[in-house]
Amino acid sequence: MTTHLDRLLFSQGGECFFCRKPLPKAEASVEHLVASANGGTSDDGNCVACCKALNHLLGSKSIKEKLQIVLNQRGDFQCPGSVGTQSTSVPSTNTQKTVLKPASEVGNGASAPIDLVLEDLKKRGASRPRKVSTLTSTIKALLKQHKKTNTDGEVSGLIDELQKRGKAMIIDTKVTYKLG
Ligand SMILES: [Zn+2]
Repeated sequence: MTTHLDRLLFSQGGECFFCRKPLPKAEASVEHLVASANGGTSDDGNCVACCKALNHLLGSKSIKEKLQIVLNQRGDFQCPGSVGTQSTSVPSTNTQKTVLKPASEVGNGASAPIDLVLEDLKKRGASRPRKVSTLTSTIKALLKQHKKTNTDGEVSGLIDELQKRGKAMIIDTKVTYKLG
């Protein structure tokens, strides 16, 4: 049997109307936009499926108050019950190539991967890797040593960053440095 909730969930693509997280039926409830107490109907036009916790919060507030709650979230809506539970279900957009943060944003600046690399290269003096392949394995080993992510993507990102900062110049397979 298809219930009202099933229908609403289906038309919302299985996501909460407000926070747009995947919404299992057990967590879902029907929210009357204009509350029944205020004369709202149970038509699909007045109902959405949303997280139970939010439905509870909205209760029988006026549609104006509800809009205010939604607008106060300024675009990134989080239903109250789902706060803190999302680390295990990170949307796929977050798993793309690691974005390198400037050292100032990392907090402990000295341990940012790019700073580790720069520090290591400076220490090496004249014995810096002269080939891209050697530089790649050097960075990889360094990251591993400091228990940092050392995927090929991370390493090539760091080499890009070295070039962007003007610390290294790569011609064909050869690397030259300007570490200052
Ligand atoms: Zn929700």
